[in-house]
Amino acid sequence: MSDPRYEAMWEKLNLDIPAHDALLGVLGQFYGDIYMSQKGRLQGMEYLDFVLSEVHGLRIQELQEAKSKGHKIIGTFCVFVPEELTLAANAVHIGLCSGADAGTEQAETLLPRNTCALIKSFVGFKMARICPFTESCDMVVGETTCDGKKKAYETFGEMVNMHVMELPQTKSDAARALFRSEVLRYKEKLEALTGNTITVEKLRAAISTVNNKRKALQRLDALRSADPSPISGRDALLIHQVAFYDDPVRFTASINALCDQMETRVKKQEGVTAKGTPRILLSGCPMAVPNWKLPYITESSGAVIVGEESCIGTRNIRNLTDEKTEDMDGLIDALVDRYMEIDCACFTPNTERMGHVVSMAKELKADGVLHYGLMFCQPYASEAIRLEKVLRKEEIPMLAIETDYSMEDMEQLKTRVEAFVEMIR
Ligand code: SF4
Ligand code: SF4
Repeated sequence: MSDPRYEAMWEKLNLDIPAHDALLGVLGQFYGDIYMSQKGRLQGMEYLDFVLSEVHGLRIQELQEAKSKGHKIIGTFCVFVPEELTLAANAVHIGLCSGADAGTEQAETLLPRNTCALIKSFVGFKMARICPFTESCDMVVGETTCDGKKKAYETFGEMVNMHVMELPQTKSDAARALFRSEVLRYKEKLEALTGNTITVEKLRAAISTVNNKRKALQRLDALRSADPSPISGRDALLIHQVAFYDDPVRFTASINALCDQMETRVKKQEGVTAKGTPRILLSGCPMAVPNWKLPYITESSGAVIVGEESCIGTRNIRNLTDEKTEDMDGLIDALVDRYMEIDCACFTPNTERMGHVVSMAKELKADGVLHYGLMFCQPYASEAIRLEKVLRKEEIPMLAIETDYSMEDMEQLKTRVEAFVEMIR
C-alpha cells in the first residue's frame, strides 16, 4: 500500500517512512485476506474499500488541505468527546484508531507492560512516527475514563498538544454537573484554538450532521438484523470504524446508498450467508482499525456477526441529540443528556449495559454473545463476569475472550470460537 504519490506529504509530516511502509504493507495484506476474499459482498462496499485503501493517502491530503484553509484537526480516542462541538468550531473531528500493535516496544519504555493494547498502540504510534492522523492533529483530546488512559495521557501530553476532559464515573446529578462543566470547558478550548465562536446556529447544524450520521448507522444496523443478514459483520464493523475518520456528510450519503442496496437484498431474502446461520452478538471493548482478528475468526468459523455492543458499534450511535432547543444552554443540556447515556464499563454501577446487551441479543435473535475484552482491561473484564451471569438467566450463551493485537493466539482463539459456534448451532 506504499504509494509514491504521497511520500512527500508523509515526509513533511515527519513519518518514519520505512516503518510506515511496513505498516501499510501489513495492513494491505490483512485487508486483502479478511475483506476482499469475501463472497457476495454488496457493491457499495467498493466505497469503503476505496476509503480504506486511501486512508493514509487521500484522506490525509484532505486534512492537509483543510489545515491550509485554517481548519484545525482534532484527534480523539473516546466516544465521549462531543463531535458536535468540534464541527461547530469549523474543525475536523478524527477518531485516532489505535488498533495495531506497531510501536508496542517503544510504548513499553514509557508504560507498564500490563497496559491494554489500545493504550500501548496510541502511544506506540506516536513514538514510532507511523500514524499520519496523529501527526496531522492540532490538538488531541483525552478523557479520564479508565486509569490506564488517564495515566497514559500524562505521558502522551508531553508529545502532543493535549486537552484532557474529566469524565465522571457515576450517573449522579453531581456527575452530570461535572460533565456539563467539562463540555463547556471543551467548547472554550475549541474556540480559543480555532478563533471561531460556536454559535447556536453552528451548533444546531453540527448536531444535525452528527445525528444524520448516527441515523444512517442505525439504519444499517437495523437492516443487518435480517435473516439471512445482507452484510457480513466484518463489513458492518468496517463501516462503523470508517465513521470515525471520514468526512461525516460524505460518509452519511454513502452509507444511506449502501442501505438502499441492503433493503433490496432483504426484500429478496438474499444474504451473505444462508438463512439460519448461527448469529453472534459481539460485545465489549472497542475494536479500532485494523483490529479485525476476532470478527474474522468468528465469521470463518461459520457464524455471522449481527451486531456490536461496543463503542465502535451501537454504544456510539444508539442515542441521538435533541435538535429542537433554540438556545445555547438548551443545546448544551441536550448534548450532556445524550452523552451521559453512554454505558461505558468505566461507570459504577453500570447496570444499563447489562440490560442493553440482553435486549440487543433478543432483538437481533442472536444465538450467542461473544464478549471481547482487551487483556489488562479491568472495567470490561469485570463486567464480562457479571454479564455472563445475567445472560445465563436469560438462557443466552456467552463466550468471554480476552486477547490483544498480536496474532500469536489465532489458533487458540479459533478452537474456542469454533467450539462455541458448534454449541449454539
Ligand atoms: S469503552 Fe469507554 S473509554 Fe473506551 S471509547 Fe468507549 S466510552 Fe470511551
Ligand atoms: S480497553 Fe479498557 S483499559 Fe483499554 S482504554 Fe479501554 S477501558 Fe481502558
